[in-house]
Amino acid sequence: MEIVFWGARGSVPVSGPEYVRFGGETACVEIRNDHGGRIILDAGTGIRRLGSVLRREQAVQADLFFTHTHWDHILGLPFFQPLFQPGFRLNLYGRPRLQGDIYKLVFRDLFRPPHFPVPYSRLILDINYQEFQGSLEVQGFNLETIALSHPNLGQGFRISSDGRTFVLLTDNELGYFHRGAASFEEYVRFARGADLLVHDSEFTPAEYMSKTGWGHSTYMQAIELAAASRVKRLGLFHHNQDRNDDGIDHIVQDCAGEIAGKGLALECFAVFQGQTVTL
Ligand SMILES: [Zn+2]
Ligand SMILES: [Zn+2]
Repeated sequence: MEIVFWGARGSVPVSGPEYVRFGGETACVEIRNDHGGRIILDAGTGIRRLGSVLRREQAVQADLFFTHTHWDHILGLPFFQPLFQPGFRLNLYGRPRLQGDIYKLVFRDLFRPPHFPVPYSRLILDINYQEFQGSLEVQGFNLETIALSHPNLGQGFRISSDGRTFVLLTDNELGYFHRGAASFEEYVRFARGADLLVHDSEFTPAEYMSKTGWGHSTYMQAIELAAASRVKRLGLFHHNQDRNDDGIDHIVQDCAGEIAGKGLALECFAVFQGQTVTL
């Protein structure tokens, strides 16, 4: 299984010399398996570059899942080139009740003037919307979901294929119980034994003191979950918009100290834009 991170920034896209190594595009993750299957999680601004690749590859279909519909997770969708490709089939998946109807919210309500000049009705692709929660088999992947601890809720994913498992829990506040969220123990069970856990690591412990309830975790909380669930690798994700490259390096160093101090068998890294991880 190959995982490509097209964006790792949280909240809002950023640019500038201080962000070049970890990147400024917001959440978009592509996952490929050994059988040519491909799924996409989230349509942050990172999906724009992925769209160019799909166009070059003359792909005729994409399966797109959303963690939730906050701006930073949908903002790139109108610039996803395959949307304007005749006959392209877009399979959209949303979680019922927790997020409302993603299809209606994203395409009918936002994808129209005055938010965007091209109205949804002018799109000529084939959109298939499907609600799901629990588990699903798509393109040789097995997907399981869990409710996130986040304002307006959302869902996390456990994705298995070819005997490997990847868990994405972004926009997940482990230190605060948002309505509808799972418990810490449930997140531990959900992530247990994964080859890679990518978790929201937006805040330092000091920053979190004044940001409790905002819907994001500290990197120390992410380590606690990774350790309890005995995952092999932890990827820090949803980097704060004000965190420059050096700031992310400091966080990784701090994590290495914590992991060594506790004697954990855990590899920890900060996800960067354009990174490919092979499991
Ligand atoms: Zn976000
Ligand atoms: Zn969010």
